[in-house]
Amino acid sequence: MNRCKLCVTNDADDTGSHVVPHFLLKRIFNVENAKGRDQEISFKISALDVQMSFGRSVQPEKLEEVFGDLSDEELEARAMADLVVDNEWCKSCEKKFADLESFYSKTLAVEKETEYQSTDDSLGALMFWLSIIWRISATGKNNLRLSAKDERKIRNLLNEYEPGKNNDEFTKKWSPVLDEISYQVYRSPDYYKKIDPEHGTFLLDGKNMQPYAIMVDEFAVLIYMKKSHLKLKLAAFFDFENLDGALSNFDSGENITPLSVEEYGSHISKVVEYMKDIKLDRYRGILNRLYRKIGHQGNMPEHIVGEIIAQMTSDERKLGRKYTHEDFVKCTTEVVLKHHVELRQINRGR
Ligand SMILES: [Zn+2]
Repeated sequence: MNRCKLCVTNDADDTGSHVVPHFLLKRIFNVENAKGRDQEISFKISALDVQMSFGRSVQPEKLEEVFGDLSDEELEARAMADLVVDNEWCKSCEKKFADLESFYSKTLAVEKETEYQSTDDSLGALMFWLSIIWRISATGKNNLRLSAKDERKIRNLLNEYEPGKNNDEFTKKWSPVLDEISYQVYRSPDYYKKIDPEHGTFLLDGKNMQPYAIMVDEFAVLIYMKKSHLKLKLAAFFDFENLDGALSNFDSGENITPLSVEEYGSHISKVVEYMKDIKLDRYRGILNRLYRKIGHQGNMPEHIVGEIIAQMTSDERKLGRKYTHEDFVKCTTEVVLKHHVELRQINRGR
């Protein structure tokens, strides 16, 4: 068995470990299998990474079979598999993460319309957020990757920190590292419940960026590992990088910058636009592969691609999960069948 990635001592014997805390994850994914109107619809950006496998000699009539091999449930299961992992760390380190989570989940009860302090245990709050980006990076199945140096730093901090205990010695020892780290937390309490439960929540983690950024459910968090990064504002993260939210560090209390439904919604619109672009690019690729598979050369004629995409995007409300797989199959099937005769002629012509 591998060694635990956190303590690097014990066997990595923990299974079903959450990369993102359960109390946030359960809002994103329907992990309790609850059915009904309150069921939140999920989306995780890696779920877009759909690999379609084409069988041999596919006819347009069989499009449904070609695309129908992954249901939304299966896509969700794949996304879940990147967020619930086995044998990455040990049970005792998992206990530490669980303690951090149960501590932080209590701060959700506090909410205000103006900037507020969520907890005076600022070291605990910082460790909570660091534990998430470390887990995402260390398990390597999602976007966010810490630099090797930062991963080492954060591993050391998490390994020696003891939740709920006196950490004076720890703070003294690690103050040169802790002093440099600051972060911003934006929160729009119950955003999705208020705005549109049909759309569900997002988990996004920025790729190769400083500050490190994650957006999970109603939180967006930017983490600066160096004071000098505060000046740089290098990375774009759905306009959160342009906000001037309250900074927190390990000894100032955790300050939350609340965002109204409208404000948070303006960032969500950027996320939706971004995902739409990614999806459309991916769909173009799939359509061209399909086109060749059904016996043509080159790319699917632009007017047919355009028609499929226009049909898919005609309904703005479909931008949530419903806009994904099944709609694509349906639109492609309809449009390709409609152009069946034209496509036959293209085939005969060459
Ligand atoms: Zn361990």
